[in-house]
Amino acid sequence: MIHHSKPTISKKEIEAAVAVLKSGLIAQGPVVQKFEQAFRSFFGLPYACAVNSGTSALHLAMLALKIKPADEVIIPSYACTAVLNAVNYVGAKPRIADINPDDFNISIDSVKNKLNKRTKAIIAVHMFGVPADMDGLLNLGVPVIEDCALSVGAKYNNKPIGSFGAVSIFSFYATKMMTTMEGGMILTKRRNIHNFVLDARDYDNKVTYKLRYNYKMSDVAASLGLSQLKSLSQFISRRQKIAAMYNKGLSGLGLQLPVSCRNKDNVYFRYIVRTGRNLDGLINALGRLGIEAKRPIFKPLHNYLGLNNKDYPATAEVYISALSLPIYPSLKDSEVKFIIEKARYILLKTKN
Ligand SMILES: *Cc1c(COP(=O)(O)O)cnc(C)c1O
Repeated sequence: MIHHSKPTISKKEIEAAVAVLKSGLIAQGPVVQKFEQAFRSFFGLPYACAVNSGTSALHLAMLALKIKPADEVIIPSYACTAVLNAVNYVGAKPRIADINPDDFNISIDSVKNKLNKRTKAIIAVHMFGVPADMDGLLNLGVPVIEDCALSVGAKYNNKPIGSFGAVSIFSFYATKMMTTMEGGMILTKRRNIHNFVLDARDYDNKVTYKLRYNYKMSDVAASLGLSQLKSLSQFISRRQKIAAMYNKGLSGLGLQLPVSCRNKDNVYFRYIVRTGRNLDGLINALGRLGIEAKRPIFKPLHNYLGLNNKDYPATAEVYISALSLPIYPSLKDSEVKFIIEKARYILLKTKN
């Protein structure tokens, strides 16, 4: 079976993690600090705070921006429920925006329709390796939380995503662009936000009591993060090479292939084609040939909330037609060729 996604972990990385385990200092310590330093230098930002997941990072970002019940937060419909959870953790009201069908990112027009006096933040998820329209979002005058969980390493106007918003969050879950098994990071330019999240991630040894959390990353996880960050540019070039093979091999089938855009690069966290065909049939047919393909998003958020598809036309269209094919650094050329051959066969057979 060719899996849909897979982590890339070298022998050296495993040895580094074992060395930390053997050191006896395995919880949050000096290696976490080293990882934070390396991460913020990569982005050219002054502050980074490591946590135990992308979800924790989102939660702390919401608290740091003082988002409260009665406040509204705009989020895209085509995203995982972690984003919706973050809004609900602080009791705020989620306002769901539609996306651009071409790159799956949040639609500025749709965001404008949801904006009002109670809007306290917008969570911009950079989708599947392609940056969201940061100029359009920042022009709206509302704090933007950049969710870079799917796109670490991508650039917008030649600057890394994660360096634009009030706060940026990352996930290092097993199958993301880079991994610490589970893990996350919060980046910011603002010292007060950084001080808040540093304090809130750890409950112990505090002079005064307030509500805090246990969202710490371990040194074992951070040792992986350090080496994964060093490999990130190689990971990205391998993903881009696989995408180029797919672009060539899947042309002429009437599929909508990934679009390229002048001021955004694509780090290809996912390789997604819009098929205009029955997705379940395609996914099953590929599965029978040993290829795991998936819907990029399990279920759109507006559907979970019982909102009408006709108010989310782009998300609804993408949901029924977008297919995600295997892509990850360790996927071999021979496997990519096999996937192209089988996908061509099935797609030609199911045309119309
Ligand atoms: C994975 C992901 C998260 C949550 O990260 P976890 O580390 O799994 O908690 C949040 N937002 C987006 C867009 C994600 O893809």
